Amino acid sequence: MWRELQLELAERELAGRKRTLRVVRDNLLDAASNDYLGLARHPEVIEAACEAARKHGAGARASRLVSGHFDLVEELERDLARFKSTESALVFSSGFAANLGVLGALSNGETMLLCHKRNHASLLDGCRLAGAKGAVTRYWESLDKLESLLSKVASKRKIVVADGVFSMDGDLLPLPQVLELCERFDAVLLLDDAHGTGTLGATGRGLSEQFGIHSERIITVGTLSKALGSQGGFVCGPRLLIDYLVGSAGSFIYSTGLNPPAVGAALSALRVLEREPERVARCTSNARQLSQRLCEIGFDVRFWGSPIVPVIVGDERAALRLAARLEERGVWCPAIRPPTVARATARLRLAASSEWSREELERITVAFHRR
Ligand SMILES: *Cc1c(COP(=O)(O)O)cnc(C)c1O
Repeated sequence: MWRELQLELAERELAGRKRTLRVVRDNLLDAASNDYLGLARHPEVIEAACEAARKHGAGARASRLVSGHFDLVEELERDLARFKSTESALVFSSGFAANLGVLGALSNGETMLLCHKRNHASLLDGCRLAGAKGAVTRYWESLDKLESLLSKVASKRKIVVADGVFSMDGDLLPLPQVLELCERFDAVLLLDDAHGTGTLGATGRGLSEQFGIHSERIITVGTLSKALGSQGGFVCGPRLLIDYLVGSAGSFIYSTGLNPPAVGAALSALRVLEREPERVARCTSNARQLSQRLCEIGFDVRFWGSPIVPVIVGDERAALRLAARLEERGVWCPAIRPPTVARATARLRLAASSEWSREELERITVAFHRR
């Protein structure tokens, strides 16, 4: 077997697709991470993580069903529910685990999952695993396709599964139209707002706030690991759903509770965000400015109102070369290649930060210049 793996790795390397890990260089300007509001390094957030560790320990010690949880966890779940205007919330060890957990828990032989084709890998995996519980998955990208699928489904339980912000393209789910279809065909929407949380809507509450929509049909999944600068995932929805998940989401039941520093940091990040909502607008404005500048110097750039700004290069090696050039010029933004994105659409995925200064925006733009 090792020999086969070795051959496959060599093939990937030839195709410019080998993935490698590396240590961050502190001297590079970070233009790619999901710390959209600069909260991962916010002194107050860091102090809250330390304080939670001192008080409750470095780890959660066991599954919450075994060891219980400390008061901070309840506080965080209450705050998340309030932040997302839902009745209740449940935290998981990651956004990935939250998606696997909720999809598995809601799937049985009567379930039809209608999964957007460009969804995050955790939703795609979650839908595949739900197959083991008898759920059937169909894939869509256009609203017409979704409507046609919904009109033919006889399943009792229909769940439309979609990212709020598509993570490699930065475009937004057309929530009003999708929700209208859910209502018409009596389906529920599982909305993964991993990138929208903290970045969309006037106060960063996410895609629902962006569109001014509130609906009992929406189950929101999110992560504490992006704009909230911590680690962990969450599900927000009706109390009934949360009560149900506690006894049926495998990734919740059989996994250690979220660690105290992550809980403390996330709580503190939410407070900073609620106190300083102007961070959200600053982030969007930086993304818009950057996309305009790169457009002016001839790059194929997209801006959809989210902080994710893809620069489409096409060829994989060309994308790697561009990323290397940026790095030489002090900017960190690795190339994103197939199979993460479609063939011939290799790209640099820029992720804006509310904390970039004018000079830093300028540095990124200049790094892209072809000379
Ligand atoms: C990052 C991401 C996740 C996973 O969240 P983690 O907390 O990093 O595990 C899930 N869904 C989407 C859309 C994401 O971008």
